[in-house]
Amino acid sequence: MKLKNVPSEFQKALPILEKIKTAGFEAYFVGGSVRDALLGRPIHDVDIATSSYPQEIKAIFDRTVDIGIEHGTILVLENAGEYEVTTFRTEDIYVDYRRPASVSFVRSLEEDLKRRDFTVNAFALDEDAQVIDLFDGLADLDHRLLRAVGKPQERFSEDALRIMRGLRFVASLDFTIEEQTFTAMKTHAPLLAKISVERSFIEFDKLLTSPFWKKGLRALIDSEAYAYLPNLQDQIAGLEQTLTAVADDFVFSSSEQAWAALLMNLKSTPVKSFLKKWKTSVQFQKTVTSLIDLYDHRSLEGPNRQTIYRYGKNLAILVEDLRQAQGLPVAYDLIEQLDESLAIHDKSEIVIRGGDLMAAFAIKPGPALGKVLAEVERAIVEGELSNDKAAILEFASQRLQ
Ligand code: ATP
Ligand code: MG
Repeated sequence: MKLKNVPSEFQKALPILEKIKTAGFEAYFVGGSVRDALLGRPIHDVDIATSSYPQEIKAIFDRTVDIGIEHGTILVLENAGEYEVTTFRTEDIYVDYRRPASVSFVRSLEEDLKRRDFTVNAFALDEDAQVIDLFDGLADLDHRLLRAVGKPQERFSEDALRIMRGLRFVASLDFTIEEQTFTAMKTHAPLLAKISVERSFIEFDKLLTSPFWKKGLRALIDSEAYAYLPNLQDQIAGLEQTLTAVADDFVFSSSEQAWAALLMNLKSTPVKSFLKKWKTSVQFQKTVTSLIDLYDHRSLEGPNRQTIYRYGKNLAILVEDLRQAQGLPVAYDLIEQLDESLAIHDKSEIVIRGGDLMAAFAIKPGPALGKVLAEVERAIVEGELSNDKAAILEFASQRLQ
């Protein structure tokens, strides 16, 4: 079968295939970009697989970067683009259910395609836009089915991350998992406990932020894979609740918003320690915590200057989006007005520092000074005090007597 509308990204990368071929080797577009082109979805990262070895690729192209030479991957810089060119390989012996103990370079495309995870990820596309489909991936694409390449039981025991990848593709592509593939996912779900948390996070995060995240989360629950992910062992009720808490067509607009929504529905979870176990950054933990705190404030008292100042307009809008998805009253206009009415958006914008007050009133650092500074900040935010040196000194002098 020939790919009809060849996306411009492939057209731009064609000279790379041609150069490799002229040097006497095979080269194809492979992986997610071919799948997405066949689905008519926007494509990103055009990956190339080739029969040539890394050293041969480096001899063909002027500008290359060794980004994963031990796995056979060279980054080729050409035509103002960057392309990962990877030697055909097999992955034979797996250790710790995640990393192949060794990769062997091979000269056969078929061997390379066989090691790929799902039939719809195992296409190759040649320079004439001919689709090479060795595992009936085109039929699966038509039926929107996610099917493991080869024997599913073997494939998930080789690499359990494929279970998470599969669930993530359900969420991003709106596919259904083929029955035997699903059974194998379920059987091998316990192996997820051995997968690095960082890798699981990437996949789960992609799942949550995908358009069909509810379908992915449903499959995560039904496959029981959730039970082998950090801190989710006994959270089935909370996961189910996450599915029903927001409107069906709601799509999260950031990772932080998605994880905040998830955590709000889980039982007794200190947010920071939960996210620490998922090895997320401190910044990520802070933002998710703020979103949850802000959501709680907002439920109690509605938007006000202090919360918009403290958490910022962007987080307030993310919270409002969640409320809207839950059918709760929203106040986007008020948030906008409150934000515009703020004289300062950060403490550092106050024209006076602690040192100025210490000098003006001959006081020492301590709780009294801290208290006055906090009052100054609160009054400026409320619009009761202008952010002006004389006005602030006057305000402080009344409180320091
Ligand atoms: P995306 O559109 O999110 O980039 P993708 O399918 O391109 O999805 P990548 O992680 O970029 O996924 O991997 C590129 C290709 O490499 C996949 O399409 C698949 O053929 C293969 N692949 C990646 N990870 C695995 C794995 N764990 N096991 C087997 N094959 C894999
Ligand atoms: Mg990709």
